[in-house]
Amino acid sequence: MSTIVSSGLDIQKIRDMFPVLHQEVNGKPLIYFDNAATSQKPKSVIDALTGYYEGYNSNIHRGIHTLAEKATTAFEETRKRAQQFINSREAEEIIFTKGTTDSINLVASTFGRKFINEGDEIIITTMEHHSNIVPWQLLCEEKGAILKVIPINEAGEIIFEEYEKLLSEKTKLVSVVYASNSLGTVNPVEKIIAKAHEVGAKVLLDGAQAAAHIVLDVQKLNCDFLALSAHKAYGPTGTGILYGKREILEKIPPYQGGGEMIKDVSFNGTTYNDIPYKFEAGTPNIADVIAFKYAMDFIDELGKTNIAQHENDLLAYSTSQLQTVDGLKLVGTAQDKVSVSSFIVDGIHHFDLGMLLDAKGVAVRTGHHCTQPLMDNFCIEGTARASFAVYNTKAEIDVMVEGLHDIVKKYRK
Ligand code: PMP
Repeated sequence: MSTIVSSGLDIQKIRDMFPVLHQEVNGKPLIYFDNAATSQKPKSVIDALTGYYEGYNSNIHRGIHTLAEKATTAFEETRKRAQQFINSREAEEIIFTKGTTDSINLVASTFGRKFINEGDEIIITTMEHHSNIVPWQLLCEEKGAILKVIPINEAGEIIFEEYEKLLSEKTKLVSVVYASNSLGTVNPVEKIIAKAHEVGAKVLLDGAQAAAHIVLDVQKLNCDFLALSAHKAYGPTGTGILYGKREILEKIPPYQGGGEMIKDVSFNGTTYNDIPYKFEAGTPNIADVIAFKYAMDFIDELGKTNIAQHENDLLAYSTSQLQTVDGLKLVGTAQDKVSVSSFIVDGIHHFDLGMLLDAKGVAVRTGHHCTQPLMDNFCIEGTARASFAVYNTKAEIDVMVEGLHDIVKKYRK
């Protein structure tokens, strides 16, 4: 492939950092457009994982031997790196979790159990991932609280006036997705947060799809919690973070009980550790946390603004090219989007689209993308979704679109 320079980035050089991209699938060069499900990992992240296991595998925090100290230092380096990555005031406001789902469940189990009571209200949007719906339904069931949902328009944008109408002194929490995995919609989170704070509600942002694409600044946003997964931002699976403001984290009870989260344990009672350790019971996912730092380095070395510019070019290109396909309808046409192209084709089931594209080496996701209420809202079962990362190219989009033309010609009823 010749050198591709886009938004000041040398895309070929970037592609060379990702071993997995250089393979054939079904006899065709792999085109990986399933980045919203999980992005691929650069060699630096993979090397950090093997480097830990081959060089200094050891449990952290409690050991005083050399390997334990090395592992502890590397683990805590990631916390400091994450602090910079989202611009939190302190590293102690960063809790390592299994990922976004775990982070949201942590908030529901701790903040939710302590501060949300009968008759209180929690507001979410129509476009939430199941992981930002079900934990609140469970909490509402337990506490007799009420879940309210902000409606969206045809383009897949929240109707802000409807959100304002839902807010009241009963609202205790607003939990919204920063960028939708199914539609790509970027929500006006700064405005959402400011409005919620006017009625004294706290705000949790689901940053799963924002982390790799949007500059995150929790101080500027003034959100109370932010959840994200490393694996959607070039990092390893099985880890992610929950950011919480210190004053809130200090007031809420621990998530799980066990080692690491305590100061002192006796049969007469236990005192808990300080934040963030109060929320990190047991041996954490040491290797993946350590490797996550290299994913954040990768993103920041390229520059999120450059990444976003390249991805926006890809999104604009795919939006225009996909519309040349007979019977194709885009789902999610918000003004402000991350690089997600969701679509359906009249007369061909999305699963068939996915399988037929896979035969051409193109990996897209199909289904409801864990957003069934959103699909119900559009009266569809699911979509085919192409989601782009920094290593994708317009030439790859051409292959997908040519493939779709071919599929439509052969199979459309
Ligand atoms: N929220 C959004 C917007 C997502 O896209 C996802 C993953 N598809 C999640 C939450 C859940 O993330 P995880 O499975 O990594 O916990």
